[in-house]
Amino acid sequence: MNHLLAALLTRVVGFSGQQVPVSNRCRRLHPTLFIALILMLTACQFSAEGGRKATPLPSSVRLRVIATFSIVGDFAQNVGGDLIELKTLAGLGSDIHEFEPNPSDALAVRNANVLLENGLGLETWVDRLYTSSGSQARRVIVSQGIPIRSRDVDGKVESDPHVWQDVHNAMTMTLTIRDAFVAADPANASVYQANAAAYVARLQTLDQEITTEISRLPADRRKLVTSHDAIGYFAARYGFNVIGSLLGTVATASGDPSAREFAQLVADIKASGVRAVFVESVSNPDNMERLATEANVVVSPALYTDSLGVEGSAGSTYLNAMRYNARTIVNALLGP
Ligand SMILES: [Zn+2]
Repeated sequence: MNHLLAALLTRVVGFSGQQVPVSNRCRRLHPTLFIALILMLTACQFSAEGGRKATPLPSSVRLRVIATFSIVGDFAQNVGGDLIELKTLAGLGSDIHEFEPNPSDALAVRNANVLLENGLGLETWVDRLYTSSGSQARRVIVSQGIPIRSRDVDGKVESDPHVWQDVHNAMTMTLTIRDAFVAADPANASVYQANAAAYVARLQTLDQEITTEISRLPADRRKLVTSHDAIGYFAARYGFNVIGSLLGTVATASGDPSAREFAQLVADIKASGVRAVFVESVSNPDNMERLATEANVVVSPALYTDSLGVEGSAGSTYLNAMRYNARTIVNALLGP
């Protein structure tokens, strides 16, 4: 179309760009071409205006959704189905706490309708990404309404962002995502509501399955040691005691423990009588191997804490990952 338009304009302005006298222009431009030119210019104008009007969305256009990491992305896909075009920012197996967005992430955020965030300090990088991208997306904190676990660390209150580790919280997050999609795309409200209801039913079944699985483990053996403090909500929901974590923090899954904290954790593990500790799929296993050797316990296969696994793995979806985690924890703590 641009080539044709250029050709028509050439007829008016002349190839060199030099203006031709008006009388000549009227003589040279055939009436049919003149009408075509007007029609094309009008069409271009309508197109530009259509682009500026982002809402309401026509039913043929999918809602563009960004999820900051894979677990929220999975909830979003289950609620949105075919009605959304989902992009998940932090890759599978990466540390969400330390994620570094690239320019294509900024472009996706800029073009998004909805940005789904866990909140509670999990995504320390998201405010800057949102602002710098110039996005107008509706930001939704999916942990809203969930009772938050917090603790005092050197006089400072630290909130635990890993709310999804309690399946009941996953239900709340699903409903928050449903409400966000309904608000952004009311024409499809009934679809989002039906999808969310179906997924919450599957989460209820999952919760029962985990409870049944955990019941195989005597209460005095429900003790957990993990790479970082990612599993407090799971522990609270299913009756576990968290002995400690290698990194001793809810704020990162990367790094090295201090020598003093490492020695203390070895002592705590020996005193607890546990036979296994749990490395996480998002953490470096080397330090956990060293800890297990020092404390004379075994390292369990990795748990899915802050990320889902790749397609085809045991943790490829939230439902699979939580089922796998429960079974792995019970088997490791029961022993052979
Ligand atoms: Zn974490």
